[in-house]
Amino acid sequence: MKQKIKEYVQTKLPGIIELRRALHKIPETGFNEVKTSSFIARTLEQAGFEVTTGIAKTGVTALLKGNGPGKTLLLRSDIDGLPIAEETGLPFASTHPGFMHACGHDGHIAILLGTALILKELKNQFSGQIKFVFQPAEEGPGGAKLMIEEGVLDNPKVDYALGLHLWASIPENKIALKAGPLMAAMDRFDLDIIGKGGHGAMPHLCKDPVDAAAQVINTLQRVVSRQMNPLSPTVVTIGTIQGGTAFNIIPDKVHLSGTTRTLDKEVWKGWESRLEPMINGVCTAAGVKYKLDYQPGYPPLINDSAVTEIARQAAAETVGSENVIEAEATMGGEDMAFYLEQVPGCYAFIGIGTPGCAPHHNSHFAFNEEVLGTGVKYLCNLVMEISNARNC
Ligand SMILES: [Zn+2]
Ligand SMILES: [Zn+2]
Repeated sequence: MKQKIKEYVQTKLPGIIELRRALHKIPETGFNEVKTSSFIARTLEQAGFEVTTGIAKTGVTALLKGNGPGKTLLLRSDIDGLPIAEETGLPFASTHPGFMHACGHDGHIAILLGTALILKELKNQFSGQIKFVFQPAEEGPGGAKLMIEEGVLDNPKVDYALGLHLWASIPENKIALKAGPLMAAMDRFDLDIIGKGGHGAMPHLCKDPVDAAAQVINTLQRVVSRQMNPLSPTVVTIGTIQGGTAFNIIPDKVHLSGTTRTLDKEVWKGWESRLEPMINGVCTAAGVKYKLDYQPGYPPLINDSAVTEIARQAAAETVGSENVIEAEATMGGEDMAFYLEQVPGCYAFIGIGTPGCAPHHNSHFAFNEEVLGTGVKYLCNLVMEISNARNC
């Protein structure tokens, strides 16, 4: 079967690259993936799939039945691009000014479409069924949660969720896997610090929100350094600070926004109750008011150990065991975590890294498209391994 899959991928790779290039030209941001989603639906329909559109606004799904009863596997690709002006100079560069597939999601779509086309031809070789899920808005505000709310894990009920990300910090054609926590829970918070403005020369007549903001920023790092277990990584980052109009005016208000990260589900649930008292303490002492808007984001992404073991076999069949490496956990977030919160599964990194290559979310981001074949082979091998495994 491994050989058969290899041959199919070899034959279909030029077509898969064409799909990726067509998608690369039309990047659209989260929940605006109108052209992208109709491209996906059209490609699947032309291959004879029955397609459901409009899930989570721009999501697309298709179901493929194997040769008899068995497990239902969800295979997921994200489909959104980013608000970045492309500077790759590629002949198939973005035709949407100011927008770019700079994270590789165009590659993910092409990989999943390629996988769907090949598995359709191999449907007598596996049992159960495959649910292909093309999900909007991974980069934000998050489409996975909405897809689950709209029933993507039901009818038929999904047993396992699988996915991958092309990954620039891993050398090309290596596959990196890790059981347990792989990516961080990711929240956002917005904080208004409200004081009383006035002349910069007369701070005693004001309540200075800039000074309070400076202390809040410092104090929030104390949550990480003094309250969290140092063996369990956590991050608090303030990403924006806005306030003031002139060098000699104390403003009325300062706005901060930031993000928290953790790989631990318990820590994730407790962030707000740790940050808020620290902010309260500083603001009370400074005599200013505050408004904290804490918005929980994606849960930590946790891979199931048994499924990850099977994924290792599939990866070894794809690139050879010497090219299957242990993934390092990252504090980046990923809404694939929502599926993996509900059902066991595995999220993998497919290496696209070359010396000096541009990182994800960079206007020069690009990768060798041969890697798309690696992604397709891996997913096809994985479906065969899981569908035909007895004890999974
Ligand atoms: Zn990204
Ligand atoms: Zn991404």
